[in-house]
Amino acid sequence: MTIRVRFAPSPTGYLHIGSARTALFNYLFARHTGGSFLIRVEDTDLERSTEESTRSILEGLKWLGFEPDEEIVFQSDSADKHREAALRLLAEGKAYRDFTPKEDRTGKDIKQEIADKAREKGAEKDMRDNPYRDLPKEESDNRAEAGEPFAVRLKVAKDGKTSFEDAVYGLQERDYSEIEDLVLLRSDGHPLYNLAVVCDDIAMGITDVIRGQDHLTNTHKQILIYESLGEEKPNFAHLPLILAPGGKKLSKRHHGEIVALTTYRDRGFLAAAFRNYLALLGWSPKTEDELLGLDELIKVFSLEGINRSNAAFNFDANNPKRWTDDKALWMNAEYIRTLPVDELIPLVREELRGEQLWREEYDGEEREWFESTIELIRERFYTLKDFSEQGRAFFSEDFDFDKKAIEKNLGKHPDLREWLPALADKLEAIEDFTHDGIFPAVKEFCAEKGTKVGVVLNGARVLLTGQAVGPSMVAAIEQLGKEKTVMRLRSQVAWNE
Ligand code: GLU
Repeated sequence: MTIRVRFAPSPTGYLHIGSARTALFNYLFARHTGGSFLIRVEDTDLERSTEESTRSILEGLKWLGFEPDEEIVFQSDSADKHREAALRLLAEGKAYRDFTPKEDRTGKDIKQEIADKAREKGAEKDMRDNPYRDLPKEESDNRAEAGEPFAVRLKVAKDGKTSFEDAVYGLQERDYSEIEDLVLLRSDGHPLYNLAVVCDDIAMGITDVIRGQDHLTNTHKQILIYESLGEEKPNFAHLPLILAPGGKKLSKRHHGEIVALTTYRDRGFLAAAFRNYLALLGWSPKTEDELLGLDELIKVFSLEGINRSNAAFNFDANNPKRWTDDKALWMNAEYIRTLPVDELIPLVREELRGEQLWREEYDGEEREWFESTIELIRERFYTLKDFSEQGRAFFSEDFDFDKKAIEKNLGKHPDLREWLPALADKLEAIEDFTHDGIFPAVKEFCAEKGTKVGVVLNGARVLLTGQAVGPSMVAAIEQLGKEKTVMRLRSQVAWNE
């Protein structure tokens, strides 16, 4: 049987990174097994679903490279089919009409909520005490015909239990007494979530459902629907939660934009790096190397490698340097450092374009210079943003001087105010403006002044790049070229800051 999986986002907000991970695992599983990866937009919650959210979720999936193998399915398109399924169960006596007048017409089933809360508190209560459950068929038909509104509920047997073998958590069982007679159709005829999911998974021929662990309770309810419909249930794999520091579930409500996939794109992550990072959130490749490109991930991915324990996502909201998990940043830096430069350049081009730092020459006569500059400066960078921020001085005369760099590298050595313009004179006279010409000249200069090479080069770094740290300074001087180097070393701007 060919594997068919789906990623089924609800378009009620941006793409959460936990959902992005669910999409990734579905995608990897499909590719690993030679199956199909599908997308279904679960837009049945009409009050909360928005087109804007659908667009942003699909954009996020595209950024990560997860294109579906078939046309995207929209759940709301099949509402009639969901309704038909509920009515069939009603006709077969597997569901019943609930005429309870207080049934909330807007969608929330108040009784249900109360029962859920009671159960959470450990109260033992048989959920099957609905007075309409055993209403004689004739009376039920007559009341419906007379126009009395009703919801349709699944009739869950009194004794027995649901059970399934979860690919991650093992055998899962739930006693029927813990599952209420769930609503299939609201009194306004609107099909409810669990029914819609089951009908669609059947219609789409889904063989394996891979989704967040927060859906475990739904899975038991859905199994009951499969059984009532006389359909075989798919395989299930539930994914561990992702926890924020402090042990809270990583959520939009508590953790804001840190949870949105677009944050990573907008803050200069490479899709490949973020995908790699997400893969390791709750899954282990059992290899030494954690840097795995998409092809490798596909090759080694298995559901068995998913951990049962929750994954930790660390960050410090009060520290801008630790705005997201260190490991994610480290991984992004590794990708920036090691990606073939011609794969990195289009990404840097986009970044520079966005900051008005791009010049067409970088793709033409200055291509070689541009490539070697990228090679040089990427060594210490963590995100694509660094190319336009820390690396700005390589692409523009309009760059800022880091205050701390001025303090540390210039402030402590007042002699540099005279020395650096003098160094400019010395460098201006060099014919061979390469490392082999520059370095001996700097050394000679320092010997003449009786100071350390480090002091002069660190001072020069501030005037040349605005930064306290960066690539090898002699290489940077060579890269900037004679004209810019000399001009910046003579400039008094940083001294007057
Ligand atoms: N729409 C659900 C969600 O966004 C997923 C349902 C499923 O995967 O079955 O959490």
